[in-house]
Amino acid sequence: MKIQHIILIFLAISISGCVSFKSKSEVASVTHLEPSTETIRKVDTILYKAMMFQKSSEKIALSEGRELTKDEARYAVELGIKHPEKIRIQYQWSLPKPHDKELLIEFNKLGFGSLFEGGRTSGYGIYVKSYFPYKSSIIRHELVHVKQAESMGLMPFTRQYLIEAMTYDYFDMPLEAEAFNKTEGDKF
Ligand SMILES: [Zn+2]
Repeated sequence: MKIQHIILIFLAISISGCVSFKSKSEVASVTHLEPSTETIRKVDTILYKAMMFQKSSEKIALSEGRELTKDEARYAVELGIKHPEKIRIQYQWSLPKPHDKELLIEFNKLGFGSLFEGGRTSGYGIYVKSYFPYKSSIIRHELVHVKQAESMGLMPFTRQYLIEAMTYDYFDMPLEAEAFNKTEGDKF
């Protein structure tokens, strides 16, 4: 199912901070796909700009966002995040968009920046849409992405995320499947 179709079906959706609509068994049955050479080339072409965007978004969230609550910090530790104290949560009505035209085109194609995107992670900076419901689920989901980026390094994570986003349907992306699996249940 393409992202556009999913958007029409589910109103309370976010692109990188979804509330889980799939059961664990459905998510676990994701088939591995090999990215095409063209996809890898395209991602490597925009990677530097994507990193600049990640870093500038992270900087804003780190300077303006709030620290984790005790429950959120406990969950971050459970996930294996090494530096939960570095994380900041920034509430905004709209999420950051790249200024660069080429990156913006790719960004829009992948469904970022849509009305239905509820949350996004840039390094240790987590953005959450102010008006979005299910904020706790979004934060838990985004904390999994923080853990992924912390473990892999921000650049390898960003590269991998883009390759997967161009290869899989959104819910089938392995990085997203892990986030959905670990977001199940009401922890706080
Ligand atoms: Zn996600």
